[in-house]
Amino acid sequence: MVSTTLEIKTLTPIWTGDAGGKCTEIKETGIIGSMRWWYEAIVRGLGGYACDPTLSGDSCKFDTDGYEKALENGESVEDALAVGLKKVCPACQLFGCTGWKRRFRMEISDVAGLFSKGIKGGFNGTFKLNIYETDAIADSEKWLFYQTLKIIERYGAIGGRTTRKPQQGPIGQNYGLINVDFSDMSKWNSCSSYAKVKGGVIENKKGIGKKNDENWFDFRYYWVVEGKYMNRLDMNDMLKLDKKGKPKSSSNIDFYKFLRGQEGVSKKIFSFDKPKRVFGYVRNEEELNKIADLLKSGFEIKKGGDILLSLEELGNA
Ligand SMILES: [Zn+2]
Repeated sequence: MVSTTLEIKTLTPIWTGDAGGKCTEIKETGIIGSMRWWYEAIVRGLGGYACDPTLSGDSCKFDTDGYEKALENGESVEDALAVGLKKVCPACQLFGCTGWKRRFRMEISDVAGLFSKGIKGGFNGTFKLNIYETDAIADSEKWLFYQTLKIIERYGAIGGRTTRKPQQGPIGQNYGLINVDFSDMSKWNSCSSYAKVKGGVIENKKGIGKKNDENWFDFRYYWVVEGKYMNRLDMNDMLKLDKKGKPKSSSNIDFYKFLRGQEGVSKKIFSFDKPKRVFGYVRNEEELNKIADLLKSGFEIKKGGDILLSLEELGNA
């Protein structure tokens, strides 16, 4: 079986613990869930549709009946699979959904470092991520997976307590910034191209015929400030919260509610101090411009849409 290995070094602790607040091992499921979250956003950012798998009622399903019927009608396995996958979004095609297996297995090995306990716990050190292609991963998926991991390393973070449920984490603790050695995966970058992948996800969206919910993370509306940090007071100020973290009365508009998040819904701004990085996401171009206005002077935002375009330029170079 083909396997590809990534070597990971944590820059800030990685958290893949349980709800009980313990992180005593690096859980593959935590890593995969987080990778998928970024992958979905990038699919949407390229103009595709990616379901939110946490909304069980509305997530994709492989069309087993359609697949079997196509086979009965004498179509090739490849064509029958295309029928079955017609209503399956790109994220589910790679990461799996009802009736369709994830295309790979992931195993963690060579863990070297420290798990610290308690509320500020997590793992610090190095480990290997071994990706086994249990089923064929399409070239376009390899390309997109590679770009996703590059984006996570350069602009994002991985694991829990960062993006999915940051309010679980103590203030001031920064989870999930990583360095990745991609040498074993570098050929994935030449498997396909920006234009092919973008064309494919747009075609897939037409077949599915659904729209992304405007509250879902779309990488076009991601923003990042490199080399800067916001402490809790800066953050409260930007979110129009008072010192105790309560909304200021005049600021209860939808935009601020979205940024702040609420019980069970993540806030949309994340700040890291070592190394310094602030990032977040909003719902449209107008809100991106609002963010740029709200940030202190000297905070230059880079937009997700421009990051995606730079992938196109790299591809053309
Ligand atoms: Zn899906």
